[in-house]
Amino acid sequence: MIEIKTNQPANARNAPPFLKGTCSKMLYNCGQRTSRFLIALGPNALENALVWLMALIVAYGILINTETRTDLATTTFYIALLLMAINLFSISAVIVVALSCMLVLTSIFLYQGVFQRWESTTELLRSLTVLAAITFLALRSKQVSDRLRHKEVYMVGAQRLTQTACFGFRADLGSMGWSEQAARILEYPAGMPATVSLFLARTHPDDLPLVLAGFDKAARHESLIEVKHRLLMPDGRIKHLHMFATPLFTRHGGFEYLGALMDVTASKQAEEALYRAQTQLAHVTRVASLGELAASIAHEVNQPLAAITSSGEACHNWLSRPVPDLDEARQALDRIIASSIRASEITGRVRALSRQSDPLRQSESLNDIVSQTLCLVRHELFHHNIMAKIDLATFDAQVSADRVQLQQVIINLIINACQAMDVVTASRRTLHIRTWVKDNEAVLEVTDQGLGIPADTLSHLFTPFFTTKENGLGMGLSICRSIIDFHDGRIWVTSETGQGSSFLFALPVLVAEESGYASAI
Ligand code: ADP
Repeated sequence: MIEIKTNQPANARNAPPFLKGTCSKMLYNCGQRTSRFLIALGPNALENALVWLMALIVAYGILINTETRTDLATTTFYIALLLMAINLFSISAVIVVALSCMLVLTSIFLYQGVFQRWESTTELLRSLTVLAAITFLALRSKQVSDRLRHKEVYMVGAQRLTQTACFGFRADLGSMGWSEQAARILEYPAGMPATVSLFLARTHPDDLPLVLAGFDKAARHESLIEVKHRLLMPDGRIKHLHMFATPLFTRHGGFEYLGALMDVTASKQAEEALYRAQTQLAHVTRVASLGELAASIAHEVNQPLAAITSSGEACHNWLSRPVPDLDEARQALDRIIASSIRASEITGRVRALSRQSDPLRQSESLNDIVSQTLCLVRHELFHHNIMAKIDLATFDAQVSADRVQLQQVIINLIINACQAMDVVTASRRTLHIRTWVKDNEAVLEVTDQGLGIPADTLSHLFTPFFTTKENGLGMGLSICRSIIDFHDGRIWVTSETGQGSSFLFALPVLVAEESGYASAI
């Protein structure tokens, strides 16, 4: 490795090569250091340093003028000193400076012994009046600017605390401005001038149409614009924003929007975590209730299996005849195929219930969901000695639903109803399941003939972990409510002590079509 040694002073070494002499290089580096120092001081410190420098020059001006006169020209120096003090000191210090100026001015007047001359006295009075008036006005403006500065500090602090920022937008000019906090949320340097393209550069590509639609609304001068969208940061992080903007009529007839921009990433993440936890809990309780339904499911699957066995035997017999009856054998095979399909449908439904998957809402027939759920609980009803009356709406309502989740709600309500009727005589055990459509809502009602629910308990039923059962968990109804909330519906209960209870839920209807369902028992 070759090391090149130079005789130049250290501070001349970094100068650019086009500077020839050592002296010019040193001057260059000295300038560099000074500018770096001034930059390090920041814009405020630089301003203050300049004001101090000017104050010193003015003070020097006053000193050399005291030898001569107390006229208005000298007063100008005092005024300049006063204005600079306002920039640098607190209100009380400024008052001290003003009083000192007046005192100095009067002392000079007395020292010069010119008070016998009328013009000199009026000149002094004029100078003092001007100084007093300017001090008064300057103090008032300082008070206002101090108050404004305080408010700004509060506003910036509040924006930082609430993760809220403000912005302005002019659709006609396509110009934009934003607060320091907005720059922080968008992760741009604080002093960077705000532009629409910078804002769009941070917008998640999938949400660009949403944001552009917001700008279009601004161009149409709409009264309130609200946009919820995501930001995509250069390192791949996603942020969630919530923006509001309302028009502000400017003095020159312009139309500017003033908006608030909130970083709701933390609450969005908490919401998602809660949603995931609820889904997992719903899954766990669903699997638990599947355990309770094991007997029903086994019975349901057993029926087609028995039918397959007997049809298989029949087919064997038809084929074993001296003259095989192929027609009969074919029919037996058709029955085998139909029963196999039924058995696989049942196991498919059970598998769907036990599977942990993200809820998927699609257009579903409420009546279909009820009918399929009944297949799973038929044996449960039989086991509890319960007669079921099913009354499905003739207008088959299509609802936006996750089939598995709604099945879970219905199973839960039916199992609760069965358990509630364990304590009454067998002849009274009737379960009534009804669906109907009213006011654009599809309603399902599960009514039992149990002993009802005491009035003081009714309000606690949907609270997590509320149970009156020895082995109860108290999560069933609370999960039912969160599922129905997720479906934009409502769930409620009516009960009369000694007369049984009715649990109902209502979901918004997508379409209602005439169906082939009739009352069934
Ligand atoms: P769990 O069944 O584990 O107790 P749930 O949330 O399903 O949890 O039910 C909470 C409570 O609501 C039950 O313990 C019971 O007291 C009451 N309850 C629910 N359904 C009925 C009903 N059909 N009749 C009477 N009480 C009921």
